[in-house]
Amino acid sequence: MLNQLTISEVAAKLANREVSARQVTQSCLDRIAAVDGRIHAFLSHDDADALAQADAADKRLAAGERSPLLGVPIALKDVLCVKGQPANCASKILGKFISPYDATVVEKLRAAGAIVFGRLNMDEFAMGSSTENSAFGTTLNPWDTTRIPGGSSGGSAAAVAADEALATLGSDTGGSIRQPAALCGCVGLKPTYGLVSRYGLIAFASSLDQIGSFTKDVRDAATMLGAIAGHDPRDSTSVPRPVPDYTAALGKSIKGLKLGLPKEYMIGGMDAEVKAAVDAAVKKLTELGAEVVEISLPHTDYAVAVYYIIATAEASANLARFDGIRYGARVDGADPIALYGNTRGAGFGAEVKRRIILGTYVLSSGYYDAFYLRAQKVRTLIRQDFLKAFEQVDAIVTPTTPTPAFKVGEKSGDPLQMYLSDIFTISCNLAGIPGLSLPCGFATNAERGARNAKLPIGLQLLGKPFGEETLFQIAHAYEQATPWHREKPAL
Ligand code: GLN
Repeated sequence: MLNQLTISEVAAKLANREVSARQVTQSCLDRIAAVDGRIHAFLSHDDADALAQADAADKRLAAGERSPLLGVPIALKDVLCVKGQPANCASKILGKFISPYDATVVEKLRAAGAIVFGRLNMDEFAMGSSTENSAFGTTLNPWDTTRIPGGSSGGSAAAVAADEALATLGSDTGGSIRQPAALCGCVGLKPTYGLVSRYGLIAFASSLDQIGSFTKDVRDAATMLGAIAGHDPRDSTSVPRPVPDYTAALGKSIKGLKLGLPKEYMIGGMDAEVKAAVDAAVKKLTELGAEVVEISLPHTDYAVAVYYIIATAEASANLARFDGIRYGARVDGADPIALYGNTRGAGFGAEVKRRIILGTYVLSSGYYDAFYLRAQKVRTLIRQDFLKAFEQVDAIVTPTTPTPAFKVGEKSGDPLQMYLSDIFTISCNLAGIPGLSLPCGFATNAERGARNAKLPIGLQLLGKPFGEETLFQIAHAYEQATPWHREKPAL
């Protein structure tokens, strides 16, 4: 089945004209028709448009053009703008909003010849860790459909795990790429802040948001980053620096690289099988020639609290634009204030409202200094912890999540428990550094009996600012020496 292949495998078949982009695209669409009813990764997909793009790619291939993404179907989280298509952020408040332009990453994927299709489910406005906060129903984990796929990019992770697309894009503000990638058994990359343009990404917390990929292996992650990275004058935080060939880092030995294990991440409450899998991965990295040393990131304890001040503050400002006048849905009222209230009251879900209220509070006069300003200072300390650690090590190794995928409904009544599922991923966004999650084993899922009785576990690698090449080098060496990425859920 073509949809089960990786980008590099499909690209080789497209290049020698063994298969057509139309066949590849059709195999993904057939797979969606067969399984998406059970996992609900997609909010919508326009098959005729996808096939038309495939035919255009086939013409380019027939004319002799070759590039790694030419003819490759890639699906998008509902947070990214595609001209002429809905972009709802899985929220009712965007109503029938249609994007008037393409996000920069979409432009870049199109230029590379990718078939950009579909709207993937997510937590409303990317706020959540389970995709249960979507206004359009929960996405389910392909490894066990009684469990969540993680979030907020749960649809993006589930679609790759279920072979519905060769790769997908998501966004990561506090872990929303790495956490669902870990829970669904894919490779997820959150690039360095400023490496990928945020133009056309509907903002949650602008100083933390980054766009990144979900792929089936590390090589595909390197290919995707090469296609979407680069300076963009339309995003003022985009960094002007050349984009290297990230695939050049693959296959290099990791002998002599120094990896740090932060002692603060070895917390109580971590699932025993997650801990065992990460310990085994560290051992494997050592066998491959890396030197592993214990390091300290002393301000780790404050990360979740700092994040929920800064992210909510920025969200309360960013989401002020959804007022019933400028975008999407409108619920009328006697005067403009009533119209705003009615629209926002009916349009936003409970979690989004909770964040807006929290964010407005921490920014309000009298509380700004005590919460927001302080959080900004601690954020600087967290970044300094990492920069200091990177004077000593080339990359940092941690679990991606403290537990495997949890049950639907298990944490939805307890926001704090939900927030804690990002305990290992949040610091990376606060520090602006790159993070990659890749499969490192499975936990047993006794409930399901012998068949398909396992749940993916993720290993997180954190890198120096713009150190993505080192992350790919380490991740690829580990992946090639282990079997995990070749396993598929029995859907
Ligand atoms: N789960 C975190 C939150 O709810 C992170 C979300 C994200 O990265 N978009 O804020």
